[in-house]
Amino acid sequence: MLPPLMDINSILIIGGGLSGFTVAQNLRTRGYDGTLGIVDPDGIPYDRPPLSKAYLLGQKDAGGIALAPESWYTQHDVEIITGTARELLLAESKGPDAQGIGVRLTDDRELYADRIVLALGGQARTLPIEGGDLDSVLVLRDRADADKLRSKLHPGTHLAIIGAGLIGAEVASAALKLGATVSLIDPIDPPLIPAVGQELARKLHDMHTPAGITTVQGTPARISCAQGMHTVELVDGTLITAHEVLVGIGMVPNTSMAQVAGLETDHGIIVDEHQRTSDSHIYAVGDASRTRTTTGELLRRAEHWEYAMNTGATAAASLSNQELPQHGASWFWSDRHGVHVEGVGEMNAQGTTILRFIDDSPVAAFRLGEHGKLVGAAAIDGGLTIRAARRIIDRGIIVDPVALADPNIPLKKLAR
Ligand SMILES: Cc1cc2nc3c(=O)[nH]c(=O)nc-3n(C[C@H](O)[C@H](O)[C@H](O)COP(=O)(O)OP(=O)(O)OC[C@H]3O[C@@H](n4cnc5c(N)ncnc54)[C@H](O)[C@@H]3O)c2cc1C
Repeated sequence: MLPPLMDINSILIIGGGLSGFTVAQNLRTRGYDGTLGIVDPDGIPYDRPPLSKAYLLGQKDAGGIALAPESWYTQHDVEIITGTARELLLAESKGPDAQGIGVRLTDDRELYADRIVLALGGQARTLPIEGGDLDSVLVLRDRADADKLRSKLHPGTHLAIIGAGLIGAEVASAALKLGATVSLIDPIDPPLIPAVGQELARKLHDMHTPAGITTVQGTPARISCAQGMHTVELVDGTLITAHEVLVGIGMVPNTSMAQVAGLETDHGIIVDEHQRTSDSHIYAVGDASRTRTTTGELLRRAEHWEYAMNTGATAAASLSNQELPQHGASWFWSDRHGVHVEGVGEMNAQGTTILRFIDDSPVAAFRLGEHGKLVGAAAIDGGLTIRAARRIIDRGIIVDPVALADPNIPLKKLAR
C-alpha cells in the first residue's frame, strides 16, 4: 500500500514530453503541493505531433508548440531542470540514511525524490543496413530533428522517405508543400493496414501519386552518400537518388536506464494499471511504458498522443492516492494531403470489416469482433464518426452492420 499523498514530499519526472508534462499538470490539479521537477535536455516541454505538420511547415514556432507557457511552471511551482538522466539511483533508498531514490545526470548532478516518474519516450528507429547510421540520414523524433529536416527542404530538394506509415506520409505531404520532390519507399503496399484496415489504407496510400509523390514498393538494402547526393539501393537493385533521406520506421522505447537499474522491461518499461514499475517507488508513463494487466496479460505498447496523456493522468491519480481515471479505447489521428485520419480501438482484431462509402469511395471502416461487437473503427475526415464509434466500443453496444454501412445514418444515432 502506497503512503497517502501527504507522505510524498517530492516527485521527480524524468522526461518532459506530453506524458511527463501531464503527470506534473495533473498532480497540481489533484492537490499535490510538494516539490515537483521535470528533467529534460530540451527544457520547457513541447508537443511532438506538430513536428511533422504545422511546425515543419513553419506555421508554428517553438513557442507555438509548447505544452504550456513558461509562466505556467513558475505559477505552479514546477521546476524545469535542463539535463539528461543517465542512471537511476535505487540503492540510496535503502538503509537508515536513505536519501530517497534518485537519478544521476550526465553532468554528474544527483537529484533525489520520494517518487520518480520515467516519461522517457523513445528514439527514432534506425535502419539496420549499410549506411543506415550515416550522420546525414535524417530522422524525426524531436524539435532539433524537425529543425534539421526543415532546413533541408527547399523547392527543388529531392527527399527520399523510407517508411510510408503515419510520420513518413505526413512528412511527405509537408515536404511537397515546401516545394520538395518526394519519393516514398515502403516494403508494404499499402502500409497502415493494422491501423486503419485494408480499404482505407489503400485509399490513403493512393493519394500520394496524384499529389505528386513517387511511391516505391521495396526494401532498402543500402544507403550511400557521395558529393552531396544520397542513393538508396533496394533489395531488387533499384536505385533511388535523392539529396536527403529520412527514415520514418517507428520508434524504440527508452528502456535502457530502467533495465540497467533492474526494473522489469520488455519492449517497454513494464507497469501495472497504476503505471507503477516493478519498483513501486518508480512509475513509467507514455511511449516508454508497457502495461501488464492484473490478469498477467502484457498489452501491446501504444505510441500515441492520447495514450501519453492518459498514462500521465493515471500516474498522477495513483501518486495522489485517488481513484484512477477510466480511459476509452485507444485513439489516434494523422493528417496528410489535406485530409484528417482518425482511428479508435483495434482495426486488426479478429473479425470482419464493414465499410461506409460516399461516392463509391470508402470513408470509414468498422471492425466487428466476437458476437458482432465493434472493436475498432477508422475514418477519413470523420471525427464525429470516430467519437461515436468510441462510445459504441466503450459501452459494448451491439450495432446493426447494415446501419453501420449506411452513410445516411449518423453513427451518433447508433451510439445511444
Ligand atoms: C513527429 C511526430 C508526429 C506525431 N504525430 C502524432 C499524431 O499525429 N497523432 C498521435 O496520436 N501521435 C502522434 N505522435 C506520437 C506522440 O507525439 C507521442 O506518442 C508522444 O509524444 C509520447 O509522449 P511521451 O511523453 O511518452 O514521449 P516523448 O514525447 O518522446 O517525450 C519524452 C521526453 O523524454 C526526454 N528524455 C528522454 N531520455 C531522457 C533522459 N535520459 N533524461 C531526461 N529526459 C529524457 C526527451 O527529451 C523527451 O522530451 C507523433 C510523434 C512524433 C515524433
